[in-house]
Amino acid sequence: MPKHHVVVLTGAGVSADSGVATFRDAGGLWEGHRPEQVATPEAWECDRALVWRFYQARRAQLRTVQPNPAHHALRAFADACREAGVAFTLITQNVDDLHERARLEAIHMHGELASLRCERCGHKVRGLDYVELSFLPCARCGHDAMRPDIVWFGEIPFFLDEIDRAMRTCTHFVAIGTSGNVWPAAGLLGAAREAGAVTWVQALEEPSNLDRRDRFVCGRAAQVVEPMLREIAALFHSAS
Ligand code: ZN
Repeated sequence: MPKHHVVVLTGAGVSADSGVATFRDAGGLWEGHRPEQVATPEAWECDRALVWRFYQARRAQLRTVQPNPAHHALRAFADACREAGVAFTLITQNVDDLHERARLEAIHMHGELASLRCERCGHKVRGLDYVELSFLPCARCGHDAMRPDIVWFGEIPFFLDEIDRAMRTCTHFVAIGTSGNVWPAAGLLGAAREAGAVTWVQALEEPSNLDRRDRFVCGRAAQVVEPMLREIAALFHSAS
């Protein structure tokens, strides 16, 4: 078993530097709805067309954005970890596919825009680009419309067991571009700290879950993540 295990958690700050929009107009609304109102099981129940339109717009937007230097730095860091014999786990709260496009494997705890799931039989369709059609029926059970494979407000995030297992052996924890107030993701930093891991936090401003024991790196992800990860990688090389 590797002596060190780095767990990286990424959030909206990483996607924002690629220009992924938040889908709010100047008044904070999308087609007159708060985005939170179209991202719930109740909304899907009441007005599927509206929810579908919201996610189609977000999927369409992915065609216009690219991974940024923070994604590429993470890719280089994952390689450096492997070379140094350090275990590496990447968890993301982001639903876009920018990590994958930077050749990174990530645990999508809040789901993925490029995936649909049948709520009746659990069948999934992955690698979706931009579906022009209005709804996609389930190819396995015939259910009339597969839902976005996204963790909506009020739903339990995915892969919590896998994340819990990773956290048990985590020796170094790095939070990148997370607000620190979306749970349970926000709790991972504290869990890592309590377990004795060394912790780094990168954000535009101090997140609410920051502690004086964390090394805080202030700035845009696209600018400060690369030097921060290079510094962390150097720790493993000097230690081995
Ligand atoms: Zn089905």
